[in-house]
Amino acid sequence: MAIITKSSREIAAMRQAGRIVALVLETLRTRVRQGMKTRELDVIASREIARLGGKPSFKGYRGFPASICVSVNDEIVHGIPGDRVLREGDIVSLDVGAIFAGFQGDAAITVGVGKISPQASDLIKTTEGALKAGIAAAHPEGRLGDVSAAIQRYAESRGYSVVREYTGHGIGRDMHEEPTIFNFGEPGTGPVLKKGMTLAIEPMLNIGGWLTRVAADNWTVLTADGSLSAHFEHTIAITDNGAEVLTAA
Ligand code: MG
Repeated sequence: MAIITKSSREIAAMRQAGRIVALVLETLRTRVRQGMKTRELDVIASREIARLGGKPSFKGYRGFPASICVSVNDEIVHGIPGDRVLREGDIVSLDVGAIFAGFQGDAAITVGVGKISPQASDLIKTTEGALKAGIAAAHPEGRLGDVSAAIQRYAESRGYSVVREYTGHGIGRDMHEEPTIFNFGEPGTGPVLKKGMTLAIEPMLNIGGWLTRVAADNWTVLTADGSLSAHFEHTIAITDNGAEVLTAA
């Protein structure tokens, strides 16, 4: 399968989808509090996505029952919002996807609930830094492996492991397009990046090892060793100069 490059008009639509995602994430960030059920975050996100003119990408995707993913503590990704009550000290990964004018935006953040441990805080800061390092390594005529390697180097040099069994992805009319974007790899390898490619880059970092397991709900992915995990994601477009973040508010 080929990597689909987008025209400037298509990227303009993706910018709008991305803006919806960014605004919803900022709303969720301000609403996370101890004592709330994770389902309440899904209700807020559903309402906001609709109010901004979008549709939730995740709802019904392979049967996923909610508009967003909410993954707490040792949950890495794909957590189903529900009756779990957030406690002070938890860390919560929020993954939001929205469709606008036929195009997708996809982004994620991890936030703390009230006062969190220094270890959790550093994990969150480092995961966001790994995403920035990956984006900074994305250049036209560079290689996808440059992005993967930058993420891995940033994370591992600070003592964290990168999840290997889940990846970023190309994105456009479909939520998941070519290529697969690993969060580990070798510089100078993989597909050549071209202007107009649109990519969802999403490092997942663990305090412990990188192995994962899937919960009995068949969705929620957890760290195999029970260690904390954080997740940050942006949808970007490759431009003449580097990368434009499409999921910025
Ligand atoms: Mg994604």
